[in-house]
Amino acid sequence: MALNPPLDISNVLKGWYLAKETQRDATGVPVGLSPLVEYDELSIASARERVLKGEKEVYFSTRAMIEYINSKKICYVSCGKCLRALDGSTCPDEKHGSDIGSPTERYILEMHLNLEGDGIVAMVFDEIATAFLGKPSSDMMRLKYDDPVEYNAVFSGKVGKMYNVCLSCKLDDRAVVDRNGWTRTVSESEETQVEFVFTIVSVSPVA
Ligand SMILES: [Zn+2]
Repeated sequence: MALNPPLDISNVLKGWYLAKETQRDATGVPVGLSPLVEYDELSIASARERVLKGEKEVYFSTRAMIEYINSKKICYVSCGKCLRALDGSTCPDEKHGSDIGSPTERYILEMHLNLEGDGIVAMVFDEIATAFLGKPSSDMMRLKYDDPVEYNAVFSGKVGKMYNVCLSCKLDDRAVVDRNGWTRTVSESEETQVEFVFTIVSVSPVA
């Protein structure tokens, strides 16, 4: 058996993957690649419970009604070298700092979902939002100013319907830092005060 045979094609593939790998989306998957993972179907209650029991991030699939999409703010400006939001003209990633390349406008959609009566707010990032709305963020920003009626119609055409969604659920990091800035563990009895962060990994209309 040959380990790491010097095949040209594998070097090309490796180079391609390394280039992809430098930019990851909100779910940790290299941008442009889809996760080939089947997520467990969970209720929102059991997803929350698993996070409270110590799982860092729980991915699950479910069905949800999209009740509302916030159309006031749909984009943020990211560092040109990573996906993080710029703080003024500085990247919060110390490796980048003021070396931000060409900053890019990216989607950040706030969707209000109803999961069998349980309302949550979930975020949707760049490529998933582009596929969902059927337009890149630059087109939507142009519409917002040039044709507000058409702009709002894009959103209203999406709400009030059922979707198959895959979500990631984790604790809001800020929720476990107390007033003195000390990080602490959230106990189960504090469940009601815990903030969860939901991110949509995929969303498609129920056929
Ligand atoms: Zn950066």
